Amino acid sequence: MTVRRLPVERRTVLRCCLCDRPADGAGGAAACDCEPAPNRRAVTEPPPTAREFHDSLAGRDLWRYQALLPARREHGSGLQVGGTPLLDLGTALDGVRLRAKDETRNPSGSLKDRATEVALAVARAHGHREVVAASTGNAGASMACIAAAQGLRATVFVPAAAPPAKLTQIRAYGAELRTVDGSYDDAFDRAVAHAREHGLYCRNTGVNPYTREGKKTCALEIAEALGWEVPDWVVVPCGDGNILSGIGAGFAELADLGVLPGVPRLVAAQAASSDSVRRSWAAALARGGWVDREPVPVAPATAADSIAVSRPRDHLAAVRALLRSDGLAAAVAEEEIRWAAGELARRFGLWVEPSTAAGYAALARLRREGTVREGDSAVLLLTGTGLKDPDPWPAAPPEAQR
Ligand SMILES: *Cc1c(COP(=O)(O)O)cnc(C)c1O
Ligand SMILES: [Zn+2]
Repeated sequence: MTVRRLPVERRTVLRCCLCDRPADGAGGAAACDCEPAPNRRAVTEPPPTAREFHDSLAGRDLWRYQALLPARREHGSGLQVGGTPLLDLGTALDGVRLRAKDETRNPSGSLKDRATEVALAVARAHGHREVVAASTGNAGASMACIAAAQGLRATVFVPAAAPPAKLTQIRAYGAELRTVDGSYDDAFDRAVAHAREHGLYCRNTGVNPYTREGKKTCALEIAEALGWEVPDWVVVPCGDGNILSGIGAGFAELADLGVLPGVPRLVAAQAASSDSVRRSWAAALARGGWVDREPVPVAPATAADSIAVSRPRDHLAAVRALLRSDGLAAAVAEEEIRWAAGELARRFGLWVEPSTAAGYAALARLRREGTVREGDSAVLLLTGTGLKDPDPWPAAPPEAQR
């Protein structure tokens, strides 16, 4: 007798990050009354077995991991998102085995494209025609790019002080750019209100549960490129904490499936003036792992605009990802970021934006302090290209140079 295997129907279920209750299926609104309304986490049910996961791998972009994603390749943009190289940088920083995941090669030049590709595929699958996002710059450029390829109308709210190259990029893709006189937080609230008022699909980090799902594919690619082994450290520049929670989710999911033997220790790299996640993490450690619902507010003043965030929108999941991976957070000074940007460009030929340089600065700091040891392996995420912010430290005006 032959037994016919029926294809397994997998679906993505959303659960509240705080109480774990399932959110309602269609709109994914929280079914609980946790306050403030927390982001949700997406869970594939039932999860594939390790064997099914390996057998499902196909293609060279992030849709290779469709078995673990909330949308399907046919709803994707067709731009190549993901499938970026893991560069071997040899030995650096006094004995660290260093690799870099080059996310600058994504269509709009930053890792944000992974989040947008998956979030907008979900939007399209649900028949949305118009999408909205707030951004410090890159998420907006990314949404403008992928919405253009998808034939979706895009409106982007950005602080007026964002680097001009990012504003130019958003306009070039034909998105409606709304500059906000204020901070990223102001832009965030405007975008949420606009989406609510007009019933539009909102890509905002921390509101949209699928951005994390897209970002987790970066971890899946790192693991696969290393032959399903884990490095000792993965260094993640951190603002809202959504890349961090995504990378954490990716490694944790593979470990749960039995595809990986464990998870790497994550490092949240923050600017000294924008270190809310580091503060929450330190407080949680002191309280035996209990994470405060509300982020610690800070007042960012850093050239690393992509990680300048006063109230991180995914802080809960980010801090939990640090705790779960036995990771840590490091806050670096502006001089360290500037030094790191110079090193990456001149020593390795990697011109990145200041937020990315903060990652290298954090790794250098941890190595100096002895936390990262000689012979350890580390992967640095190159989250954004230098072309995004070509002049982050403009020369002082002549009178100030005397
Ligand atoms: C958005 C971004 C980050 C920070 O990601 P979060 O999810 O906000 O922590 C880091 N680097 C670059 C280039 C980014 O665009
Ligand atoms: Zn809840």
